[in-house]
Amino acid sequence: MPEEGARRLAALLGAAERAVVFTGAGISTESGIPDFRSPGGIWTKMSPIDFRDFVASSEMRKEAWRRRFAMEDMFGGARPNAGHLAVAELVKRGKVGHVITQNIDNLHQDSGLPADRVIELHGNTRYAKCLDCGTRFEIASLRTQFEAGGAVADCDCGGLIKTATISFGQAMPEDEMLRAEAATLDCDLFLVAGSSLVVYPAAGFPLLAKRNGAKLVIINREPTEQDPYADLVLHHPIGTILSAALREL
Ligand code: NAD
Repeated sequence: MPEEGARRLAALLGAAERAVVFTGAGISTESGIPDFRSPGGIWTKMSPIDFRDFVASSEMRKEAWRRRFAMEDMFGGARPNAGHLAVAELVKRGKVGHVITQNIDNLHQDSGLPADRVIELHGNTRYAKCLDCGTRFEIASLRTQFEAGGAVADCDCGGLIKTATISFGQAMPEDEMLRAEAATLDCDLFLVAGSSLVVYPAAGFPLLAKRNGAKLVIINREPTEQDPYADLVLHHPIGTILSAALREL
C-alpha cells in the first residue's frame, strides 16, 4: 500500500534532523530520461565507452560525442519532476542537508536546490570540460563545431575536451567523494531514491550510513541487494511516494 509506506516514510523523516538523500537514474525516469538497468534502459541498447578508450582513440571520442549530441534533446528538454521537487522541499524545510547524486542531468539544481547542497559523484553532462586545464565548454557550441567539422577540437592548452561526467575507468572526483563521505557520516537518515545500488564506490554510501547508526530507507521500483539492511523499503514510483510523504509531514 503506497499510503502506508508514505506514512512510515513521513514518520522517519519527522524524527530525522540531518537526512541525506542519495539519488540515481530512477528519480529522473519520470522526467523522460531512461535509466541504465531497467528493461529497455540505455545499456540494453549500447555498452558504455571506457575512459581509457576515449583518451586513446579519436574514433571513440567521435562516437562518444555522436551519442551525447543524439541525447541532447532528451537532456536539454528534461524538467524536474515531482520527485526532484519533493527533495528540494525537504532541503528547504531543513530536513535534508545534502543530496548525493549519481545523476549527470542537473535536474536537482534545476529544481531549485542550491548547487552547494548537491554532491555530483559522476559529474554533469550538461556541459563539458578540458581534461587538462578544466576550462568549461558549452554543449551547444561543441555540437555546432561537431556538425560542421565532424569532430570536437582539442582545447587551446592541447587537452582533450569531454563532457564533465565520470566515465567507467576514470578516477572518482576527490572533493565530491570526501564531501559525500562527510555528509553520510553526519546523517541520521539516509534515503536512497532510484538506484539499483550496483555502481561502486557510490553504492557504498548507504551501508556506510547504516553502519554508522543512521536509519536507511530505499525507494526503488525493483529490489536491490541492500534491501535486507534497510529499515524501510518502498517499491513505489519515487514522485508519488515522496509527494505523499511530504503531505503527511
Ligand atoms: P540504474 O539504471 O542502475 O538503476 C535505476 C533504478 O531506478 C532501477 O533499479 C529502477 O528499478 C529504478 N527506477 C526507475 N524509475 C523509477 C521510478 N520512477 N520510481 C522508482 N524507481 C525507479 O541507475 P543508477 O543506480 O543511478 O546507476 C546508473 C549510472 O548511470 C549512474 O552512475 C548514473 O550516473 C548514470 N545515469 C544517469 C542518468 C541521469 O543522469 N538521469 C540516467 C541514466 C544513467
